[in-house]
Amino acid sequence: MDFNDTPEEAAFRAEARAWLESNAERKGPDDAPPDLLGERTDSETVQRAQDWQKKKAEASWACLTWPKEVGGRGATAIQSVIWKQEESKFRTPPDIFGIGTGMCGPTIMTHGRDEQKKRWLPSLVTGEEIWCQLFSEPSAGSDLAGLRTSAVRDGEDWTVNGQKIWTTGAQFSDWGILVTRSDPNATKHAGLTYFVVDMHSPGVEIRPITQINGGQGFNEVFFNDVRIPDANRLGEVGDGWRVAITTLMNERASIGGGGGAGSVNELMKLAADTELNGKPAIEDSAVRQRIAEFYVRSKGLQFTGNRTLTALSRGTTPGPEASLGKLVGGKLIQDMAAFGIELEGFCGSLTQEGLAPQDATWQNRYLGIPGLRIAGGTDEVLRNIIAERVLRLPPEQRLDKGVPFRDVPTGPPSK
Ligand SMILES: Cc1cc2nc3c(=O)[nH]c(=O)nc-3n(C[C@H](O)[C@H](O)[C@H](O)COP(=O)(O)OP(=O)(O)OC[C@H]3O[C@@H](n4cnc5c(N)ncnc54)[C@H](O)[C@@H]3O)c2cc1C
Repeated sequence: MDFNDTPEEAAFRAEARAWLESNAERKGPDDAPPDLLGERTDSETVQRAQDWQKKKAEASWACLTWPKEVGGRGATAIQSVIWKQEESKFRTPPDIFGIGTGMCGPTIMTHGRDEQKKRWLPSLVTGEEIWCQLFSEPSAGSDLAGLRTSAVRDGEDWTVNGQKIWTTGAQFSDWGILVTRSDPNATKHAGLTYFVVDMHSPGVEIRPITQINGGQGFNEVFFNDVRIPDANRLGEVGDGWRVAITTLMNERASIGGGGGAGSVNELMKLAADTELNGKPAIEDSAVRQRIAEFYVRSKGLQFTGNRTLTALSRGTTPGPEASLGKLVGGKLIQDMAAFGIELEGFCGSLTQEGLAPQDATWQNRYLGIPGLRIAGGTDEVLRNIIAERVLRLPPEQRLDKGVPFRDVPTGPPSK
């Protein structure tokens, strides 16, 4: 492991920092911790985010690893990590482009034809068009290949019918990546076809879902006879699973783990500002012990994350650390949020920004973190990955192998 910047990395960091210093405000000690779940996205926030993305794109600080010809910087993966580390120290709008730039763009780059790359990639970099991911369905989440939204060929178009759910940001998106079942007679993974869909097409109905914390981060999306031109197909007919795997690999890499390391400082600040038995809570030995425990866990995560960084810095592909980071990091943030609420005493029951300390961040995190532990691979699915791919334990039993999709059992066995 090597924790230090190489001379080239240090020079790149200095260049990034200098640009940020002249284009954004540095965060202060009293800034509210970031909204990890990005759910406070009203139209004003979306506009601010688009303005910031455009500014970055004009100075080649957006989509750093993408080739220059589509608006990127042609930077290395480690340079992109360095940029994110530096950018996080400044006041910037929430990143509403993560799905587009982290998942849709890389999939188009891998499977798209030249004209598709030219049409979609540049406006993704500048943030002029926003993207969402239409994969999950009411009965197909972890088991994504069980999806049922149908696509039927009709001349130069396809007609799509069905329902997607948990679609983050669909309500302000212009385009979506969509996996459909185009052949129910083929086996489960073989009958899928992947499209890019215009979210403003007739027949696309978007219904925001209100979450427990009041946010509307994701939506139900209904497709009622939606026409998609064949020119918007990514990859071959029936090869949608292979294209979807590209998206999912990029999703895991972009969600990653962590989130706990910076939060320990926020928790310490809360403990310093909160009174317990007539003195600052941070002076209480039981409080100090809990914070120390979080610090140890977050350091473990940080060092595991550093293994990924070292692999990137050496130009190699990171191993399964990303699954570990998300699994351990999600639980850590949840435990810290529970402790933050406990520290706040009766204020811990207030969820309105401005009323509770630190803008009710711990309350909102506590209510939102279960979602983070589900999105991009649930805890159980990540444990399966670690069991099978890291510990080499026997794989799960599969009842759907080699069976045409229409014959895959969907309920309890009939008597
Ligand atoms: C905040 C958030 C944002 C999201 N954004 C998007 C988005 O933009 N686009 C999109 O398409 N989807 C999105 N999703 C959906 C997400 O991908 C799914 O919720 C996830 O894949 C889990 O699927 P599911 O909800 O259908 O649960 P299920 O797959 O039905 O799982 C239910 C339970 O069964 C467990 N389970 C399932 N399979 C196994 C197994 N093989 N072994 C052991 N346990 C198992 C799970 O761990 C879970 O506890 C989002 C979800 C969240 C929470």
